[in-house]
This record gives sequence, structure tokens and C-alpha cells, in this order.
Amino acid sequence: MAKGKLIILSGPSGVGKGTVRASLFEDESLNLAYSISMTTRFPRAGERDGIDYFFVSQEEFQRKIDEDGFLEYAQFVGNCYGTPKDYVDQLLNDGKNVVLEIEVQGALQVMKKCPEALTIFLVPPSMDELEKRIRGRRTEEEDIVRQRLDKAKREIATQNEYKYVVCNDDVEEAKNKIAKIIKMNANVLTK
Ligand code: 5GP
Repeated sequence: MAKGKLIILSGPSGVGKGTVRASLFEDESLNLAYSISMTTRFPRAGERDGIDYFFVSQEEFQRKIDEDGFLEYAQFVGNCYGTPKDYVDQLLNDGKNVVLEIEVQGALQVMKKCPEALTIFLVPPSMDELEKRIRGRRTEEEDIVRQRLDKAKREIATQNEYKYVVCNDDVEEAKNKIAKIIKMNANVLTK
């Protein structure tokens, strides 16, 4: 069986990566699998361990680093996030196209290790709109919101490192554009 494609989906906090990703996963023909990350961040309301993330302590995260268990890892606004390596390899070998929804520092590490990865950066229609979306989430303190906005500006400045940049003005449109990109670049199911 042909190996699957590694797909990196990045974009600033609040751009709607999760929503676009959920929409992409409804299309079974894209043959996608999601790489569940590990994080030391506390779960938000509604998030489930082993589905949205593996929520772990700092010690557990460090142990995974020590045993070289991450494809990449990074710090983001005070918390650690990482992609467990074995699971990704297994899915790729099973012929799945594996989506990593990760921030920029981690994405740059993966691009170095796996230059064949398909890399996509989602941008917001404007910074005002991004701020509205981040504030609309209403789950975080003002200083965290500020830090996420600062970080968003710096992340958007790295978009040229990615093969494709897609604007998330409308979820359905962004989803369709990304589905087309995946169909051009990866093994998809033909019926
Ligand atoms: P959040 O706290 O909003 O869930 O995630 C913060 C940022 O970390 C987002 O940009 C998200 O895509 C990114 N992220 C999630 N998992 C990983 C991971 O495994 N590695 C890296 N480098 N970033 C991640």
C-alpha cells in the first residue's frame, strides 16, 4: 500500500483551524487521520482526553521528550505541545493522510525532517476579525488573549514558509480549497 502524506495545517490562534479541520474530516474520500497531540495545557470546557489532546503533566511531557518520542514539540503561550511520533508513523504506513494541526515552531521542525510534507497555512480575513474570534471564545484571561494576539501577528509573518496559504473567510470555501490541494498532492480514495 502506498504511504500516506503528512499534512501540516497551521495558522494563528482563533483562525478556525479546528472548524476547518472538522469539515475536512467529513469528506471520507480525503482519507485523513488526525494526529492527536500531547499538551500540558488544561482542557477547555468540552475538550476530551484522548480525542482533542492527550492532556499530560509537565513530568509526563518531559519523559516523552527524553525517550525521543516526539516528531516535534514546542512551547506556546506558556504550555508545551508535541506530536507523538509512533502514532503518526503507523498511520502513514497504513496509507492514511495524516493531519498535524500545529503551530509554527513545530511546523518548521517537521518541514526540516520531512521536506515532502504538504504544508498549509490558514490566514484570517483581517486582524480585527481574528481578535473578534479570539475574544468570542471567552475562555481566557485578558493577558492570555493579548499573548495569543501578539503570537498570531508573529505567526502570520511566517506564512511564506508554507506551500499553500488559504484565507478562512468562509469555512465551507476554505474547506473546499484545502480539499482540492489535498487531492492534487496526496493519495485519495477513488470510488
Ligand atoms: P490551543 O491551546 O489553542 O489548543 O493550541 C495552541 C496552538 O498549539 C495552536 O496553534 C495549535 O495548533 C498548536 N498545537 C496543537 N498541538 C500541537 C503540537 O502537537 N505541536 C505543536 N507544535 N503545536 C501544536
